[in-house]
Amino acid sequence: MEEWKFLPFAHTALKNLFSKPVTTSYPFAPAKYPERMRGHVEIDIESCISCGLCARNCPPGAITVDRAAGTWTIQRFDCVQCGNCTNVCPKKCLHIRPGYTEPDCQKHSETFTRPVKPAAPATKPAAPAAQPAAQPAQTPKSDPQ
Ligand code: SF4
Ligand code: SF4
Repeated sequence: MEEWKFLPFAHTALKNLFSKPVTTSYPFAPAKYPERMRGHVEIDIESCISCGLCARNCPPGAITVDRAAGTWTIQRFDCVQCGNCTNVCPKKCLHIRPGYTEPDCQKHSETFTRPVKPAAPATKPAAPAAQPAAQPAQTPKSDPQ
């Protein structure tokens, strides 16, 4: 009876022997990400209004918003990909995209700066005040003498 216990194992071994490996040789082959993978946060900085809601609702405090400087900074190694910032952003300019943060020996952050919008066109100069209507030239009356 003991030999029957090896049958499932033999089946698995034979199956793996004649099937493709389930792993890829990353980084030599491109990584394949699952459809709903939570990899990293990306920002469309041009749409950001520096409201700071994402920073206030980030559980590990990975986001810093500087309204005066127009910058949005994320500590990639502190982010836990919970997606909370993407849910609270009123402009919907944050997205969770596939792809992990590259490994590093030290923690580092990424800062994005909102492009400066071109200044509004100067208002039109005021139209010159209307000139009084020209008076017809007075011709001196000739002396009737
Ligand atoms: S995904 Fe979560 S942890 Fe990462 S920045 Fe957004 S709120 Fe913070
Ligand atoms: S919540 Fe959205 S709009 Fe507000 S600071 Fe964060 S990224 Fe910018």
